[in-house]
Amino acid sequence: MRIFVAGIITETNTFAPWPTGRRGFEEHGFFRGDAGTSASGAETALIARLWRELAARDGHEVVESILAFAQPSGPTIQAVYEAYRDEILADFQSKGPFDIVLLFLHGAMVSTECDDCEGDLIARLRAIAGPKTAIGAVLDLHCHLTGAMLQNATALITVKEYPHIDFPERSRELYDLCRRAAKGEIKPVSMLFDCRMIGFYPTTSEPMRGLTDWLFEVEKRERVLSVSFGHGFPWGDTPDTGSRVIAITDNDPALARAVAEEIGLKIYAVRETLLPRYRNIEKALLAARESNAMAVLADTADNAGGGAPSDNVSLLDAMLQQGTRDAAFGAIWDPIAAETCAEAGVGTKLRLRLGGKAGAASGTPLDVVATVKAVKPKFDQGGLSGSRVAMGLTVWVDIEGIDVVINSTRTQVFCPDAFTGLGIDLSTKRIVVVKSSQHYQAGFGPLTETIIPVATPGAIQMNFAEIDYKKKRDLDYFPRVADPLGKDK
Ligand SMILES: [Zn+2]
Repeated sequence: MRIFVAGIITETNTFAPWPTGRRGFEEHGFFRGDAGTSASGAETALIARLWRELAARDGHEVVESILAFAQPSGPTIQAVYEAYRDEILADFQSKGPFDIVLLFLHGAMVSTECDDCEGDLIARLRAIAGPKTAIGAVLDLHCHLTGAMLQNATALITVKEYPHIDFPERSRELYDLCRRAAKGEIKPVSMLFDCRMIGFYPTTSEPMRGLTDWLFEVEKRERVLSVSFGHGFPWGDTPDTGSRVIAITDNDPALARAVAEEIGLKIYAVRETLLPRYRNIEKALLAARESNAMAVLADTADNAGGGAPSDNVSLLDAMLQQGTRDAAFGAIWDPIAAETCAEAGVGTKLRLRLGGKAGAASGTPLDVVATVKAVKPKFDQGGLSGSRVAMGLTVWVDIEGIDVVINSTRTQVFCPDAFTGLGIDLSTKRIVVVKSSQHYQAGFGPLTETIIPVATPGAIQMNFAEIDYKKKRDLDYFPRVADPLGKDK
């Protein structure tokens, strides 16, 4: 069989003030046909290699098109989206026909003129392919699951874990499902259930941990091929924004509908418990000081991974005002400050205006005296599933006893080597602050039991009832409405 692989991946924060353009897709590794044969550590390459290995094992031929990821920010420029989309479609047409299409997508990509880029891409591929080709997509769970995606895909599988440590496993499942569908062994039928919820659901704590484990049990049932809980992406305003469940069965639409509803209602029943309740900066720093172990604090609202600028320095300001020592803080996206420090060189003490630059959510900058401790022109850190994530020009500066990481390629912090790779010794720290909402738990969880997500100022606020949606349908969602499905009566 012949397999076509492609993907344009980004999570669009429609409230972010700056657009996603070509540079956004190029700075994390842009592949044209060669992701799976490259030695790149990018997650796109990791998944393409996995699909190539599986195809080689089964004697199938793989043709790759574009695979590219952009760090979340505002809507993708229409011309950029269309250029990438049309290149994928042209490859698909000119190099076809194909029996299977495997897509690595996000599910919450918005361009300046399209609220559902994934639905648009899948529909156009379907129009070229006709009804027989098995078209599957592996998605981030922070996706907007839409009718266009569902109607035109043979199978959609989201990751189940947040942090998303399971892209390889889910991609493997997608490969198997599509291969069996293409061979005519199964006939996947998908149904969607809308939970009418907006939320943020880490799978590292209850009740989401137990619910996630239960999803794997549901998949063992007769005729159930796959189930996914699409958490939704609260900061993307589209008609379909929200938490939705997909169930895929083997040619049994009634069962698919029943299973999707069963899962959706089970999650809906614990919606109150699922609301994030984070400490404010003052209480978080107090808890960190009272901890015997090293405390890892997450600057949750300024997470680049959700489209935030990653240059809000409010938490660092509070730490400096309290005279905090033996701490590390990163990574502040401030290319100007990074270049200034690199120009000054290691050992130089200089006055620095830090952060507070990109937009309103950045807050005010900090004027500090910093000593440059290390400069790495092309730094990277460990990502999820063994991938590597570019950080660009990255510097370590000491600011009054706090080791601060400043970088030029916007990204959240995933792994301790974002600090240790520069020479910072985390074993001597009382407090380590990471700009991330949840993915950091995969890398930092093993270091300490004191993990403190902090309700900081910034772009990603968890007050879901107050998000200023203009496009979203069904504004009677939880938590704006206590019981939108009317199940409490
Ligand atoms: Zn995600």
